[in-house]
Amino acid sequence: MGLIPEDVIGQVIDRTNIVELIGSYIPLKKAGANYKALCPFHNEKTPSFVVTPGKQIFHCFGCHEGGNVLSFVMKHERLDFAEAVRMLAAKAGVVIPETDPGARVKDDLRQMVFKANEVAVEYYHRNLVTGKEPEVGIARDYLKSRTVSLDCVKRFKIGYAYDAWDGLAKELKQKGFSDEVILKSGLVVPRDKGQGFYDRFRGRVIFSIFDYRNRALAFGARALKKDDKAKYINSPESILYTKGRHFYGLNWAKDAITREDAVIIVEGYMDLIRPVEAGIENVVASLGTALTADQVRLIRRYTRNVIMLFDMDTAGQAATLRSLDILLEEDMNVRVAALADDEDPDSFILKDGADAFRDRIKQAHSLFDFKLGRLMAAHNAHTIEGRAMICQEMLPTIDKIPSEVVRDGYVRELAGRLQIPEEAVIKERRRLGNIVQSRPGGGEAKKAYERKELSPEESLLLKLMLVDPKWVAESRVVILPEDLKDDAIRLIVAKVYELFDREKQVGVAALINSFGDDATRSILTRLAQDDVVFNDQKRMFADCVKSIKGTRQKAERQRLRDAMKLAEKAGDWDMVRSLQEQFNTIIKG
Ligand SMILES: [Zn+2]
Repeated sequence: MGLIPEDVIGQVIDRTNIVELIGSYIPLKKAGANYKALCPFHNEKTPSFVVTPGKQIFHCFGCHEGGNVLSFVMKHERLDFAEAVRMLAAKAGVVIPETDPGARVKDDLRQMVFKANEVAVEYYHRNLVTGKEPEVGIARDYLKSRTVSLDCVKRFKIGYAYDAWDGLAKELKQKGFSDEVILKSGLVVPRDKGQGFYDRFRGRVIFSIFDYRNRALAFGARALKKDDKAKYINSPESILYTKGRHFYGLNWAKDAITREDAVIIVEGYMDLIRPVEAGIENVVASLGTALTADQVRLIRRYTRNVIMLFDMDTAGQAATLRSLDILLEEDMNVRVAALADDEDPDSFILKDGADAFRDRIKQAHSLFDFKLGRLMAAHNAHTIEGRAMICQEMLPTIDKIPSEVVRDGYVRELAGRLQIPEEAVIKERRRLGNIVQSRPGGGEAKKAYERKELSPEESLLLKLMLVDPKWVAESRVVILPEDLKDDAIRLIVAKVYELFDREKQVGVAALINSFGDDATRSILTRLAQDDVVFNDQKRMFADCVKSIKGTRQKAERQRLRDAMKLAEKAGDWDMVRSLQEQFNTIIKG
């Protein structure tokens, strides 16, 4: 995807009415010149989400989320920046010129492969639902034997691939897809000798894997014949699909995950289909062994609360343990739900029902209890060696927890459970050298912002500049960004100057795109939104400038005084004299 030119982004922002846009997602109520709503980004009972049409921005005074139309759709539709621009551009009728023809071709190819996959989903599904052949009967019988209803087949778009060499290939050719697109989709396999290709999936039940936007990415195919070597075969990696980057079912589950603020992660297709059918909808399937960091980050867009529900056979346990560390590193709250060794979510719900399943989820163990339980079962905790082994395996996991308080709590608990002195565990922890420095996790910037008091005169100066570009022109010559002591305001002011030099005006909505981090954006939208009555702007401006310069001079004087003291101590009298001169100039200035 090529870079989208700045002026096109500006056009998209200008031509999108923020009240109409946000109003199409959530009900807005007029309040003076602004509009108010219950914030879509955090839970609240009284509205603190404000849309300011005059500036084309929004700001939430509860969770400090803020931005322009692009930030809103990025956040709400969970799109990246370019996707958001494209979506709003299409709505507003703005044409995005492609700057990079290579990117364009690749992008077109991706779109075509998406389309080919879509045809495949429909083709397989149609075979299963309407096919009259005996082999389709066998597929239906198989699904019936697993208590998969026709409704369920339709809901999850389950399909069937005929036991033929070119059923799908023909279909795709007929629909006009080029050989390149068909090959790139991974739906076919090139023939060894000569030209052509044949269908990858034959005589199998097909599960389609969609991305969070409901676009078909890849397929999983289950064997029906006993002599098929592999029970499941899957699409190879393609220009759309990378293993370990997606989940099965996220497209169906995302709203439920947001609603419940939790996700249940299971292993396979049927482990997902069964609970979802039973009304437990916040479920995704990992389709691999252990989770990857990419998958965890994808989930983190929706929730931080994860319940792992993997099979408890040996492979499942190992996968769960590996996944736990990744979840912890990504700062997620993790619990583990346990089923008996020979159960999976599918068989459990069929046998005991959905309510029993819900109870299991409710009773999910903390990660700590789960891992400790497994280790206690594996090593003999009655012996010193056994306890040492358990300790050594628990500590690296504990040290992945970002919160120091929680970490220390677990160290204490580990000592208690193993009945060894806490100091011994702490010593062991040091010896293992696993003490992790506290890392800035997600949301840290926002927390820092919430605690932070902005300098009143610096905020006021910035507010004035956002109200009237005339003050940018005036401020530009008397206040340098370096004169400002608040990091965020300094950054914003520098951008304001830059924008003003270029365009002789400052649009807040356009300015927002310059800042990638939430904290700076939040400060900007809050200041721009603040309903201050500006009576005597001229005097306010003068006061701000005076105060900022005063603070700056005071700091500078202090610096010179400190330097002089050092120079005096060192007997460097030339230096003292030079510093004294500088000091005098400041006082006069
Ligand atoms: Zn909010």
